[in-house]
Amino acid sequence: MNKEYCNSHCFLTRNLSMKMKPKVGSKISLILFDMDGVLVDTISSWRFIHNYFSTDNQESVKAYINGEIDDYEFIRKDVNKWRVNNISITNELLGTILKDISYMKGAEACLKRLYKKDIKTAIVSAGIKLLANRIAKELHIDYVYANELLVDMNNRLTGEGIVQVPLKHKDRAVYDISTSLGIPTKEILAVGNSCFDIPLLLSVGIGVAFNPEDDCIAKYADEIIYQKDLSLLLPIIEKYHNLDE
Ligand SMILES: [Mg+2]
Repeated sequence: MNKEYCNSHCFLTRNLSMKMKPKVGSKISLILFDMDGVLVDTISSWRFIHNYFSTDNQESVKAYINGEIDDYEFIRKDVNKWRVNNISITNELLGTILKDISYMKGAEACLKRLYKKDIKTAIVSAGIKLLANRIAKELHIDYVYANELLVDMNNRLTGEGIVQVPLKHKDRAVYDISTSLGIPTKEILAVGNSCFDIPLLLSVGIGVAFNPEDDCIAKYADEIIYQKDLSLLLPIIEKYHNLDE
């Protein structure tokens, strides 16, 4: 990479207040996966739905990065855009749309091996929880931390959400997970692909940049996978944790 490049209006230049990165632990007890661009082969599950409705959220992305709106308003604006032509949007419809998102190459093989070796796994995504829950079920992922869209009595999206993983502060989700599971952050490995994952990578023992969407994340990673193949994570894990035991 010759040129410093960030696809996402790099928030790094605006805000990065992190605790000190933990040292690498003697073993890996938990692996955290970003979802969009890591477990699934799409840049953003939100954008995937916008593409379906022929809408876009560039304006709200910009406002969010600039700190003009928070995560809740971001969700509200997205859902409002989807309501073009006044159609009511249910979880069933979202599930049908999101079915067309495919897994990242190597994701199934990677997660199968980790499941067999009894290594705990979690999704930490600012993406849509409905999708994260399905993936977790299909790939035997133990825990899901993502953002939920709330529905009314008729199962229609209200525009409100539950933000479990703020897009700009994935480190907060890591500290919650570490505390609730009793796993020290130094024993956690995390995988992410964009500049929004820098706080995720810096808050754990081993940070892995996967198929980096932005150059900036590579600077903050302990390990980098340049090929779009998640099974390449396995040899990296083996450097820190014996998978043959
Ligand atoms: Mg991502």
